[in-house]
Amino acid sequence: MDLAGRRPGRAGGRVSNGPMTYVSTRGHAPAIGLGAALVAGLAPDGGLYVPASLPRFDVADFDGCDSLPAIASRLLRPFFAGDALADELDAICAEALDLPAPLRAIAQDTGLLELFHGPTAAFKDFAARFLAACFARLRPRDVDAVRTVLVATSGDTGAAVAAAFHRRPGFRVVILYPDGRVSPRQAHQLGAFGDNVRALRVAGSFDDCQALVKRALADDALKARVALTSANSISLGRLLPQMAYYALTALQHRRAGGAPPLFIVPTGNLGNAFAAILARACGLPIGAVVLATNANRTLPDFFAGADYAPRASVATLANAMDVGAPSNFERLRWLCPDDADLRRAVTAEAVDDATIRTTLRAYAERGLVVCPHTATALHVLDRRRAAGDHGDAVVVATAHPAKFDTIIEPLLGHPVDTPPALAALLARPAEAEPIRADYADLCAALLAHPEPAPAA
Ligand SMILES: *Cc1c(COP(=O)(O)O)cnc(C)c1O
Repeated sequence: MDLAGRRPGRAGGRVSNGPMTYVSTRGHAPAIGLGAALVAGLAPDGGLYVPASLPRFDVADFDGCDSLPAIASRLLRPFFAGDALADELDAICAEALDLPAPLRAIAQDTGLLELFHGPTAAFKDFAARFLAACFARLRPRDVDAVRTVLVATSGDTGAAVAAAFHRRPGFRVVILYPDGRVSPRQAHQLGAFGDNVRALRVAGSFDDCQALVKRALADDALKARVALTSANSISLGRLLPQMAYYALTALQHRRAGGAPPLFIVPTGNLGNAFAAILARACGLPIGAVVLATNANRTLPDFFAGADYAPRASVATLANAMDVGAPSNFERLRWLCPDDADLRRAVTAEAVDDATIRTTLRAYAERGLVVCPHTATALHVLDRRRAAGDHGDAVVVATAHPAKFDTIIEPLLGHPVDTPPALAALLARPAEAEPIRADYADLCAALLAHPEPAPAA
């Protein structure tokens, strides 16, 4: 189902070139430009920023665009219209999105979209690099204060943000992660950057880390002393670029003569899957979007007909999806305010740990080793195929299996190859400072160290 045009006020017809503004999902904040929305993160009424109108593309609008950066520039141009960053869009896409996003055929009519070929081996690299490229251009050159990018991570975001800002003049990164609840290699990666990146291991859950970050970002007294900004998964600067790889895949499929494929997306905070849904709403030839979750059932329960009920997260093998209150659900409701329509447009299915294990093993026996997150989507594919759905399908592979060696290797009985960028990080020493899940501890950590001097 095509959601575009359902909302009043949407730019209809062809792509318009008027300036784009951004409004809050909650509707009680002034409309602002792209740059301001990127820096703000969250709207002042507590909502998430969304575009005031959606451009509408035809497949022909992308004629001549073949690479991911070229498609991203074309797709994002209306979203940058009227902003100071618009002139830099081509350069931002060329710098940030020059990463492979291959579609690997794994069965007849089925492709695996591998989004883990970036520096930290998870799909978050695309968006983190894009956000960093925007931030670097937004930073006033005449201010020497160092900006602190504060980020809570369930495992993969922190490393992607760290890699994107590592040694970038004018920025430092402070990562909060739940101690003992990320994979050992994820933890090592988070602590291995050094220089302008600090990792804090928090005695608590991801939800605790996220609450600490939110409180700091709303604390004016703290912000008077430390120039804080964020890069969390509700950032507009992460949502927008994620549309690009869905557009690339959908256009390649169309150019090869295929019908709009079904996309199955491993889902936690709903940022990645929402980008697919938004790209579809902009006219890209994307078929049904299915959310695959782990045992955190908030979304599957809603799509099965229950009231939306966020809850505490439970720990699973697919730890980067251990989310009980998916932040981007608010954007989905904005795009499609009627629950019945929404349930027709999107579906969600939960996959428990036992099934993740059997799926990992079954695919490995056929020569396809994936990460536990990707396994949830492969299992949803298997269910659909067993139910007689044989349409074209794309399964999104969100991380490289080598990040989860302690889960996968015992199941397989042999080691998993490690990509060179990940191996290089794992070879470095790692250091993380312990803190309690306590706001005073976070403030002390932020204020204790002098901020690094801005590089010349
Ligand atoms: C972050 C992450 C997800 C979930 O993505 P959302 O945008 O939060 O839904 C899935 N898989 C991996 C490997 C991740 O790192």
